[in-house]
Amino acid sequence: MKQKTIFDQILLGEIPCNEVYSDEKCLAFKDITPQAPVHILIIPRKPIVSLQEIQQEDQALLGHLLLIGTKVANDSGLESWRTVINTGEESGQTVFHLHIHILGGRTLNWPPG
Ligand code: AMP
Repeated sequence: MKQKTIFDQILLGEIPCNEVYSDEKCLAFKDITPQAPVHILIIPRKPIVSLQEIQQEDQALLGHLLLIGTKVANDSGLESWRTVINTGEESGQTVFHLHIHILGGRTLNWPPG
């Protein structure tokens, strides 16, 4: 059986998080190592490893995660933000449970490193 990720443990309530939003499909919480004044992660309750694994049946769920991204960004007072989904080790993915980063509250450079 697949080993539990830290985000599985958060979803199971085994470790705490700084929650900002929750519903039956997803959970949003503050990143433990924020890279910007606002840095929120949104994760599906469904155990999807990454965008590499998404299926047609996940279409509505993925749209929902983006809508919640806009909600938590607006609720955090952001008018400008960056949405990041790292996919695979080389991209910087370190937790292998799909998650969306919402980053804002400072000027963000482009291209990313
Ligand atoms: P990624 O590198 O895209 O896989 O992003 C994983 C993110 O999870 C990183 O920004 C970490 O700081 C964050 N993270 C890891 N453990 C925790 C935790 N226990 N609570 C909140 N964020 C976490």
